[in-house]
Amino acid sequence: MNSPERIKCLIIGSGPAGYTAAIYAARAEMKPVLYQGMQPGGQLTTTNEVENFPGYPDGVSGPEMMVQLEAQAKRFETDIRFGFITKVDFSGDLHKCWTEDGHEIHADTVIISTGASAKYLGLESEQHYLKIGGGVSACAVCDGFFYRGQETVIVGAGDSACEEAHYLSKLCTKVTMLVRRDEFRASKIMAERVKNTPNIEILFNTQTLEVLGDGNGVTGAKVKNSKTGEEREIPCTGFFVAIGHQPNTEIFKDYIDLDETGYIKYAQPGTSKTNVPGVFVAGDAADKNYRQAITAAGTGCMAALDAERYLAAIEH
Ligand code: NDP
Repeated sequence: MNSPERIKCLIIGSGPAGYTAAIYAARAEMKPVLYQGMQPGGQLTTTNEVENFPGYPDGVSGPEMMVQLEAQAKRFETDIRFGFITKVDFSGDLHKCWTEDGHEIHADTVIISTGASAKYLGLESEQHYLKIGGGVSACAVCDGFFYRGQETVIVGAGDSACEEAHYLSKLCTKVTMLVRRDEFRASKIMAERVKNTPNIEILFNTQTLEVLGDGNGVTGAKVKNSKTGEEREIPCTGFFVAIGHQPNTEIFKDYIDLDETGYIKYAQPGTSKTNVPGVFVAGDAADKNYRQAITAAGTGCMAALDAERYLAAIEH
């Protein structure tokens, strides 16, 4: 086995948070190494058009934006590697990390930007239209605009689903919300807001059987009432799924403080610090509220600046 690789800064993950951290860390001469992870480019690679990232007046496709962020990180000589970190040991001053093929890295600083993954229903038809960008989305704020003046369906009953249903209701002629139980999980105030919005119809005890389409795009949803057994089809061009996210933090749980749903807890609000000195977090791995490319990029910047200060302190 080769001896461990010794580096100043390891960045885990390649969404907007990771690449922004890399740009800042590389320009600060920290010679960052970035592992791209399972989904190079992160969640944005499953989004079509990004129209709300400042600086792109005509919009940019999610994958194209990630290619540009990667190129920008490379321009400052970030060492970008295909592969992922499968194990960590943050018990000492040097943070030990292992890649999937057993390569061992010892880093002074680690920036966790592993993101979160949207949960989907798992239906074959849903996955088909998700993959081809044909009308399935897990982000109303990202994609709702494409369905303005049209009818949409949203699945879920938590705060996210309520927030997104309300967001869609301002753009769409009608929003049908599919709630699998006979009550919301969302806070009362969020649920009330949805109930009081005239163009949102809420169907309780309702599960999705299939996302309907013409092969290229969504045309409806086939649903079933679990109490009565009644099946029906709801016409829609956009099918939104808001049933929660899973932060990609499993490998850190023995060392890093997580909240009850697995998101990394900031040790000091207003910074990117975790409970382990020298380990910082950026992006959706610690953010269940905003989840935007621009907020991920912002916290990526914070993490690199915090890591730089930490390095300066230990080097003197
Ligand atoms: P939640 O886990 O709170 O809710 C997920 C919802 O999806 C539940 O209603 C659940 O149903 C439903 N669901 C799960 N799986 C399925 C399925 N297979 N089919 C149909 N429905 C399903 O996730 P959220 O993303 O809504 O929220 C995550 C956290 O973020 C929460 O703590 C929330 O409060 C917070 N948040 C706060 C906001 C705010 O305050 N502005 C905005 C957004 C999120 P069931 O209820 O039956 O389990």
